[in-house]
Amino acid sequence: MAAGRYAPSPSGDLHIGNLRTALVAWAWARSTNRDFVMRVEDIDRVREGAAARQLEDLRRIGIDWDGPTLYQSSRRRAHEDALDKLQDKGLLFECYCSRREIAEASSAPHGGPRTYPGTCADLPEDVRARRRAELALQGRHPAMRLRPRVDSWTVMDELAGEVTEPIDYVVLRRGDGTLAYNLVVVVDDAFQEVDQVVRADDLLFTAPTQAYVAHELGLTEPVYAHVPLVINEAGDRLAKRDGAVTLRELLDAGWNVPRVVREMTASLGFEADSAASFLDVFDPARMNRKPWIFRPPV
Ligand code: GLU
Repeated sequence: MAAGRYAPSPSGDLHIGNLRTALVAWAWARSTNRDFVMRVEDIDRVREGAAARQLEDLRRIGIDWDGPTLYQSSRRRAHEDALDKLQDKGLLFECYCSRREIAEASSAPHGGPRTYPGTCADLPEDVRARRRAELALQGRHPAMRLRPRVDSWTVMDELAGEVTEPIDYVVLRRGDGTLAYNLVVVVDDAFQEVDQVVRADDLLFTAPTQAYVAHELGLTEPVYAHVPLVINEAGDRLAKRDGAVTLRELLDAGWNVPRVVREMTASLGFEADSAASFLDVFDPARMNRKPWIFRPPV
């Protein structure tokens, strides 16, 4: 099986930019004979009731998906197993640094191109034992960071082409025990048999790290398509404070669902007033790739 997906974080209502990305992800998957799956990324940034509202809004604009919605919080065991696998391969190390220590060391001249200065990467075991004990006295635990075997990794992006980024010593498990997005996204995409990741282009720079983690876990690296963001007139990413930007706000302002879909698809260079009619005309090669400046009606 092959699938595309949408993976919202339930931190609040989706705005028209999020809905537009979801619509593109859905049409791209459906037009390439893929399944389309849904995943609620609810391991942090969760607001009560937000997931249900997001799924309702997606359905209202005509997006459907195959199989049950996957809740990321139910996958803790699989995430831990993946972390253990990386540990067994010698690809993790404990990091005892505070945020402040990292910021200070990174601005030092020897900081190098990576944002993490490598402070804890090669400590002898006796130093590790001491630092672990110091943290334990403060009731804290070490974070686990990736020790990559490569300097950089390349992914294929349908819109951006080949994208190469340095692979940093990213945190995969935080000191508080929570597992990081760069690990869980990979494990869950593979579990849902996702081979095409269409999402907003603010995440483009994370794709090589995620593909590298997939590679080390023996999982298939997906093909990516990072879609330009929707921005406000000042050129900043669209936000709640910009006015009527969520589906509910737009409906309250007098728009109907076909109007919302028409605005989204027009910004992509197509004419459609429903998800189904968008699917009929959708062609990635003809899609407008510029950011969309959205002017809320109120
Ligand atoms: N859950 C992430 C977000 O809503 C998106 C993750 C992804 O698409 O890989 O920002």
